[in-house]
Order: sequence, then structure tokens, then C-alpha cells
Amino acid sequence: MANVSLRSVEKEYDNGFKAVHGIDLDIHDGEFMVFVGPSGCAKSTTLRMIAGLEKISAGEISISGKVVNEVAAKDRGIAMVFQNYALYPHKTVFDNMAFGLKMQKRPKEEIKQRVEEAAEMLEITDLLDRKPKEMSGGQRQRVAVGRAIVRKPDVFLFDEPLSNLDAKLRVSMRVKIAQLHKKLKEDGNPATMVYVTHDQTEALTLGDRICVLNKGEIMQVDTPENLYNHP
Ligand code: ADP
Ligand code: ADP
Repeated sequence: MANVSLRSVEKEYDNGFKAVHGIDLDIHDGEFMVFVGPSGCAKSTTLRMIAGLEKISAGEISISGKVVNEVAAKDRGIAMVFQNYALYPHKTVFDNMAFGLKMQKRPKEEIKQRVEEAAEMLEITDLLDRKPKEMSGGQRQRVAVGRAIVRKPDVFLFDEPLSNLDAKLRVSMRVKIAQLHKKLKEDGNPATMVYVTHDQTEALTLGDRICVLNKGEIMQVDTPENLYNHP
């Protein structure tokens, strides 16, 4: 369980460009929050700041009350899924998914069990011995999601995870991600999810709430129902 809080968060890049202008937002325990908005509105910058991958220029971001940049990366309880999958090309699917757990020096049996469990959930059990280049984009993205799942994070961060997939795969993968959120809740281990997209359909179908960004500012935060009825 984890909540994510952003207080007066600003981002100015090294070249002087102000990408984020004072964002305030509370993402609740177990909530599925979607950041939506046109390209360049700072969705990705905001997500990367939550992940601790990008320095904050002003304000504060905390996860379950702990300020992000005061906690070691491995102890933040977050896992991120990138648009370009970011898999290790020379490792098998199993090893790609197991890598983070190996770094944490988890027992072999536990690693095997977690990887197999995640693979089953994502229907990639028969791919565990393959390498990324031997798979389709959709399969690779399942592996990327699997690699996040095995860490059992409190917070999942998704950066346009479906943008490189064709329309049909986008829908099936979207359903998988929604199922994952639901299943973790049903199993009593709800995860908070923060999901970046420029696709309105994705936002409306996935989000418990949607945060609409424009030019580094929040325009609206509301449920899909309310946004749809009062656009
Ligand atoms: P989005 O994810 O909504 O497409 P980004 O967060 O990637 O938007 O970018 C927000 C704005 O910040 C854009 O105008 C982009 O050009 C700018 N930006 C992103 N990264 C950098 C950087 N490293 N240096 C300078 N400007 C950047
Ligand atoms: P994303 O697909 O995550 O939005 P981009 O393709 O926009 O990423 O950017 C890729 C990388 O280039 C990121 O690390 C981002 O910080 C950097 N970047 C994006 N926009 C700019 C910019 N205007 N100036 C410098 N770096 C940028």
C-alpha cells in the first residue's frame, strides 16, 4: 500500500526550460491514476520525478510519507515500465524478469516462484527461454510488465507502455494491465498505479481518476465519468 503526494512540484531543466509549474496532487493507496495530455505537457517528466529519475527543482514528492529523494532507490517500492521495454537483449525472458530479484539476493526458489507466477498471469510461460529479439513487441512489453510485477512494488509507474504496439495489441495489453490492478486488489496486495498516456481511450478505460495536464500544469483531476460528462 502506498500513496503518492506531490506538493508544489516544479521542474526547470538545465537549459532553463520550465517544464512543470507547481503541481499539487494526492494519489491514493491502491488508486489507478492516469496522466493524460498532449505531447510535451510534462507527463513523462512528472512520472520520472515520482520515480526519482529526474531531479525536482522545487516542492516535494513523497511516497507513503517518505520524501522520494531521501530514500535509496531500491527501498522506494516502485517499479517502472517504459515505452521501449528496456529489456536486456542478451538475457532470456526468465533472466530479464529475475534480474532485479537476483540483485536483491533473493533465494533462488523464491525468484523462480515469483517469475513463474508473473509469467502465468501475463501468459508468457512458454516464452521464458527466449531472448527479446525472438519476440514480438507485444510479447516484449509483457515481459517488461512481468519484470515490474516480480518486484511486488507498492507503486507501478507506466510511461506510455503501449505506444509502440499496434492497435489490437494495445487493447489486449490494456486489458492485462487493468486485470493486474484488479487482481492485486483482490489478493489483498493493492498496488498504486500511475500511468502516462496521450491516448484518451486508454485514460478513460484504465483510470480510477485522470489528471489532465497542459504545458506543465494540472487542468483537471477527476473520475472518467465526471470528465466524460463535463468535458
Ligand atoms: P510528455 O511526456 O507530456 O510528452 P515531457 O515530460 O517529455 O512531456 O516533456 C515536457 C517538456 O519538457 C517538453 O517541452 C520537453 O521538450 C521538455 N523536456 C523534456 N526533457 C527535457 C530535457 N532533458 N531538457 C530540456 N527540456 C526537456
Ligand atoms: P519520452 O518518450 O519518455 O517522452 P522523449 O523521446 O521525449 O522521451 O525523450 C527522450 C530523452 O530525451 C529523455 O531522457 C528526455 O529527458 C530527453 N529530452 C526530451 N525532450 C528534450 C529536450 N527538449 N531537450 C533535451 N532533452 C530532451
